[in-house]
Amino acid sequence: MAKHIVTPEYKIYYPVKVAKSKIAGKGAYALTKIPARKKIGDLGGIIIAMKEAKRLIRDLKVINCVELDNNLALNASANPNDMRFINHSCDPNTFMRVMKDRVEFYALKNIKKGQELSCDYGETHHEGTLPCKCGAKNCRGFI
Ligand SMILES: [Zn+2]
Repeated sequence: MAKHIVTPEYKIYYPVKVAKSKIAGKGAYALTKIPARKKIGDLGGIIIAMKEAKRLIRDLKVINCVELDNNLALNASANPNDMRFINHSCDPNTFMRVMKDRVEFYALKNIKKGQELSCDYGETHHEGTLPCKCGAKNCRGFI
């Protein structure tokens, strides 16, 4: 029997504007300037077992899941918030920190109002098979 997993409340400290991305699909744009190292917000989602996340990734191909500790994962497709529109870039302006049951985004550098937010997601569950379209000079080509 699956044990009941409690999902905490996830907050956004710097609200973003969601609009067509310069990278892929929709993107998240800063509504105000965000100083370096400030917490932008938590990625919304629900906590599920890693086993369930792996099954979803296999069946649905593209799903927004981040691995947490203790064989858990955050499924950002359910209970979503605007942080899920932060696209991958090989030259990002935010970074992600996994804290027990939450996935936090922080400003990596000073971000100007109107800039698109991006994050280096590093290793994904696609194991480097999705072409990267971030356009950065140092783009790795695949994510
Ligand atoms: Zn890239």
